[in-house]
Amino acid sequence: MVTAIVGANWGDEGKGKITDMLAEQSDVVIRFQGGANAGHTIINDYGRFALHILPSGSFYPHVTNIIGNGVALDGKKLVKELSAITGQGIPAPRLIISQRAQLLLPYHVLQDTYEEERLGGKAYGSTKSGIAPFYSDKYAKTGIQVCDLYHEERLRERVKAALAVKNVLFQHLYHKPPVDAEALLQELLELREILRPYVGDTVGFVHKALRDGKRILLEGQLGSMKDPDLGIYPMTTSSHTLAGFGCVGAGVPPTSIEKVICVTKAYSSSVGSHTEPFVSELTGEAGDELRRRGGDQGEFGATTGRPRRVGWFDAVATRYGCMVQGATEVALTCLDVLGYLDEIPVCVGYDIDGLVTDVFPPTPELMKAKPVFARLPGWKCDIRGCRDYAALPQEARDYVDFIEARIGVPVRLVSTGPRREEITQRESGLSCSC
Ligand code: GDP
Repeated sequence: MVTAIVGANWGDEGKGKITDMLAEQSDVVIRFQGGANAGHTIINDYGRFALHILPSGSFYPHVTNIIGNGVALDGKKLVKELSAITGQGIPAPRLIISQRAQLLLPYHVLQDTYEEERLGGKAYGSTKSGIAPFYSDKYAKTGIQVCDLYHEERLRERVKAALAVKNVLFQHLYHKPPVDAEALLQELLELREILRPYVGDTVGFVHKALRDGKRILLEGQLGSMKDPDLGIYPMTTSSHTLAGFGCVGAGVPPTSIEKVICVTKAYSSSVGSHTEPFVSELTGEAGDELRRRGGDQGEFGATTGRPRRVGWFDAVATRYGCMVQGATEVALTCLDVLGYLDEIPVCVGYDIDGLVTDVFPPTPELMKAKPVFARLPGWKCDIRGCRDYAALPQEARDYVDFIEARIGVPVRLVSTGPRREEITQRESGLSCSC
């Protein structure tokens, strides 16, 4: 059976922790979209790690980790991450890279960087990891698949064809030097040998694993709001962040996904640029305090180190985010962070031109939305590390009940700290409406 672990919001919900925790009882963990442009923080017996491209099952020797065909594979970053892990004495993960995954190449990173420069103040706040140019090329059918590395003539032809177009852009739109095809080919031939032991038929592997009754986790990157179709377009990423895309990006059959665990934080955070709509944002000193107290080391991007924007829990966005993921249950993280507050606002409606709605709108209306808050009493104590849901203060449990009722999906896991074991299981009276 397949369980998808995906984000309900803007990313950084704590999916890495939940995946790492659930990977213990799993056989296979698959990354199915995105690239090394966001990180998953994992804190375990070996230390603290920010994984960008390796799946979050990488610390378990019994787990097969798969980089699916839907991923933007930055070979250099993968090699760096693998050596960072093994360099600390941790056994090399069991890893299979899809032969159909496409390579994120240095010219994608250059194009991303040049385009952000060109846009100046109107830039999208890209992490400049090359993700948007990569997916544009994939759908324009000029991408390079991992399997192409092992067919040298085909590789040469495809690299030359791609560069014929890129170099016109680089020289004449961005006024930058062209990329040399032969130098790039040399790099790719070196990468080919490094990747060789890992490359395989992941789709065949996954289907066999399903026939053998294995437990598979799909690990999403970013969250619903960042999906280019159902999110806050165009301030989205370029790959589909929804569990449904696992069927394409990991090659699992749609009928095999039995559980969709949507991860959401007990407050909001977003690493996006300041031009993005973020209705429940908290700014000023109060925002600085939440940012400082958030996550495991403050709310700063695991990949970029950028300060994340923070705000109160947004029930409008999260209910929509869970709906489009097809969530069967919710894992609520970072409840411990809110223990310092007397009163906790929760955004329960959007005021758009004087009309209050709890339906998440498309971007032009979202840009105008102002938050409508309900205020709940805080619990004013430290619950960090609590493992027994019943032992949480009444106000904390009421807060979770309130959120659950608003989003309409059973909250089954409540996380009380960044470490693997800092988690409580919650019985929910709610059954999934999906
Ligand atoms: P991901 O991309 O969804 O995996 O999320 P990130 O790893 O980028 O961000 C989540 C942050 O919250 C990380 O710093 C985690 O260590 C931290 N974290 C996860 N769960 C909890 C929790 O329950 N409490 C606290 N305080 N931090 C948490």
